[in-house]
Amino acid sequence: MGQKVVVYKKTCKKCNKEKDIRLFPDTNDYKDGKSVYCHECITCWKKNSNYGKSIKKTQIQNKKRLHANYIVNSAIKKGIIKRSNNCQKCGVTDCKIVGHHHNGYEEASILDVLWVCSSCHRKEHNKINYEM
Ligand SMILES: [Zn+2]
Ligand SMILES: [Zn+2]
Ligand SMILES: [Zn+2]
Repeated sequence: MGQKVVVYKKTCKKCNKEKDIRLFPDTNDYKDGKSVYCHECITCWKKNSNYGKSIKKTQIQNKKRLHANYIVNSAIKKGIIKRSNNCQKCGVTDCKIVGHHHNGYEEASILDVLWVCSSCHRKEHNKINYEM
């Protein structure tokens, strides 16, 4: 059908080189569906022994997160805490608001959630990841 393929370019955040978008792996974490790091940098990264460790850390975090969200949801049902319907970071109301555990998933702060929209939520988590 003579469809023209448009080649987009993207600058890798790690090596700062402008590369063909197809050299960036797919991910659901970003708006354009592409990683901010190119394949080459990610491969390099994976060779680093810390990579595997951080995956494991993420898996543990995910488990904790699921548990924390479960506790939050049951607390809401019981009326212990209230779900906010606007983002406590940017104030939007027409967005899905999620509970963010800004003090971590430990028992002591398990009900200490910040109600944020999904884009603020992502920002908060990116911040945390960079700090680690
Ligand atoms: Zn790169
Ligand atoms: Zn927001
Ligand atoms: Zn969160």
